[in-house]
Amino acid sequence: ENIVVSELAKLMGVKATELIKKLMLMGVMASVNQAIDADTAVLLGGEYGIEVKVKFLTEDDLIPVHDDKEEELTSRPPIVTVMGHVDHGKTSLLDRIRQTAVAEGEAGGITQHIGAYEVKMEKGTITFLDTPGHEAFTTLRARGASVTDVVILVVAADDGVMPQTKEAIDHAKAAGVKLIVAINKIDKENANPDMVRNQLAEHGVISEDWGGDYQFQEISAKANLHIEDLLERVLLEAELLELKGNPTALAEGIVIESKLDKQKGAVATVLINRGTLNKGDNFVVGTEFGKVRAMFNYKGASIKEAGLSVPVEIMGFSGVPQSGDRFVVTPDEKTARQVADLRSDEARKKNFAEKSAVSLADLFNKIKEGELKELNIVLKADVQGSLEALKSSLIKLSNPEVKINIISNGVGGISENDVILASASNAVVIGFNVRPGVQARVKAEQEGIELNLYSVIYQAIDDVKQAMEGMLDPSS
Ligand code: GDP
Repeated sequence: ENIVVSELAKLMGVKATELIKKLMLMGVMASVNQAIDADTAVLLGGEYGIEVKVKFLTEDDLIPVHDDKEEELTSRPPIVTVMGHVDHGKTSLLDRIRQTAVAEGEAGGITQHIGAYEVKMEKGTITFLDTPGHEAFTTLRARGASVTDVVILVVAADDGVMPQTKEAIDHAKAAGVKLIVAINKIDKENANPDMVRNQLAEHGVISEDWGGDYQFQEISAKANLHIEDLLERVLLEAELLELKGNPTALAEGIVIESKLDKQKGAVATVLINRGTLNKGDNFVVGTEFGKVRAMFNYKGASIKEAGLSVPVEIMGFSGVPQSGDRFVVTPDEKTARQVADLRSDEARKKNFAEKSAVSLADLFNKIKEGELKELNIVLKADVQGSLEALKSSLIKLSNPEVKINIISNGVGGISENDVILASASNAVVIGFNVRPGVQARVKAEQEGIELNLYSVIYQAIDDVKQAMEGMLDPSS
């Protein structure tokens, strides 16, 4: 919402030194490279008979949208999440695959936990999300981020379909993600893979060799049986999905983990799903921004660039981003800052609107969501008798969930002061046989404060009671 003096001068066709003089006469001290606010710019324009229009930039203005063309796309590795019932072997499988991955790289390499890792095979690469179970999957999805192409559903051959197996099936289906079944623990004596096939068929997951369209693989994570076969099935599935991305675009990705590291500061693991990320790139992520100071792969090795489906731990954030946040490289630092500022402003406005708008109608929701433990009331009445009666009746409405606080009470009309107090302390105003003055009404409008006026005592009490119970008819 600000503009630098030199830029404004250029737009107006007036010398910057000239503008600075005018600004001084208006009582504003600014140098060529300093920014002045929109209101001042409009006034300044007026001095020269130039109409200055203020346009608020949106994200779309700042980050140009580029539609990837077909010829720009190349195939990218699949991203896999392992799900299944507790103790069916998800962690064992992820560990086993990670060992395979490291064994093929530097001898004795130590893996770092960054939330994901890559497995490079002869026929292609696979990226695994290193958080087993559907919590991470669901959390990311709830935040609008889809980072999984294939789900490996682990089912123990000695235990069969259990509640979380069903949940995993539902999650994968809801997300429209391909499912591959790994029947685990086939090394066990009491393993019964056919029982698993039967039970899964009942849930609509029918294996290919039974005429369905799901790939099944019998494995043992512990005894290291058929793990490669399972990985090959993943690659086969990926081929059918024709996963593609534009490697030349400015990079984008999803934050899958983040933390504040004692040495590195704010770090996050980002899964790149568009473009190629380079050291030195500027970026914005949620309300944070930054510059890629250093990047590390899952082995902890420093790297200079990261391509499609590659998980990288990044250093250089202004603050810790949230998992599920979209990470977007910007053309320059200024843009990154501007977008982050824009988002912070919006978040602040939203917060403010939500906070100040305590009204009887949304009282119950706030109580239910645990946002409100006390209901503050500013109370005004025409005579002392009614005031006392109302006061004691309202206080008695307190229950274990919400305590009623009469933060101010008095005889007389509703004043501007009453409204200011209500606004500052998140209170509702209740008036009995009184009216608000003009200034109070204007202030209430500005601050979004509800003025509840009554001429029957029990009605006032009833309204508050019903609001607390979520029974208030919003139209009343
Ligand atoms: P998660 O809860 O799904 O992550 O399951 P874990 O990977 O922690 O495994 C649960 C238990 O099953 C552990 O004691 C593992 O050693 C064991 N386990 C996992 N895979 C196999 C397997 O293939 N065969 C046998 N016999 N035990 C396994």
